[in-house]
Amino acid sequence: MALHTPGPGLPGDGGTDQHRAAGVTRGARAIRRLRRSARALVILSVLGAVALVAWGSLRGRPQDLPWTPLDLSQPIGAFTGRKLTALGDDFGACRGVLDRAGVRYTALPPRNGGGRCGYRDAVRFAEGGARRISYAPAGLGVACPVAAALAKWEWDVVQPAADRYLKSRVATIEHFGSYSCRRMYGRDAGNWSEHSTADAVDIAGFRLADGRRVTVVRDWTGGDGEPARSEAAFLRAVRDGACDLFATVLSPDYNAAHRDHFHLDQASRGAMGWRACR
Ligand SMILES: [Zn+2]
Repeated sequence: MALHTPGPGLPGDGGTDQHRAAGVTRGARAIRRLRRSARALVILSVLGAVALVAWGSLRGRPQDLPWTPLDLSQPIGAFTGRKLTALGDDFGACRGVLDRAGVRYTALPPRNGGGRCGYRDAVRFAEGGARRISYAPAGLGVACPVAAALAKWEWDVVQPAADRYLKSRVATIEHFGSYSCRRMYGRDAGNWSEHSTADAVDIAGFRLADGRRVTVVRDWTGGDGEPARSEAAFLRAVRDGACDLFATVLSPDYNAAHRDHFHLDQASRGAMGWRACR
């Protein structure tokens, strides 16, 4: 008989109410825990942001912080590319960046090509100033954010890579042009190419100070089955370096349409938009 007497808290002795009460207490505790976790998360986020600022300032690397103004004299940092792309929203700011960096240029008159085509922020590099490389054909006009990225590419990527892999300097960059009122791949339908607003440039090759010529179409694969050749290594280095400066970089690695040039553009996809490096 005693064996069958239910003890406290077992079913049949009013334990259900106790259970319910315990459940409510547990629920309240869970909510309190959740609130505490949320508070801790907010505090952690604030501390994280403060730490980021301190880290960026203390290291003296404003180029790694998203809110500092772009300065082309600083080394390439975590946000340099996005800041260059964002210059597409502000021609005045973009020209200021070029001016402060000693890049000489003439602003091109706005062009309305109909539909999505045309530009209001294109520039043409002028002789002299802080840049040394010329472009062939001469008179290349590009949207200002592309010009700013090309200047930075010359200083921080192209010349160091030429020095390292080719033991020479690049004198001239060969290109296939910038502005062209067309859709992607010249199709009749589909997305408009960034070329339709001069926000892109196609780079085909490099002429060196010592007279050599390196082209994407011939030297990307390293010629005679030797991908380790210095020309191929140079081309990969300048392609990879462009990815830190342009919103989109397409090379022969991407598809056959790019077997003979690098497509570099500053497509505006928003502050957190995707960037392509292929
Ligand atoms: Zn292109």
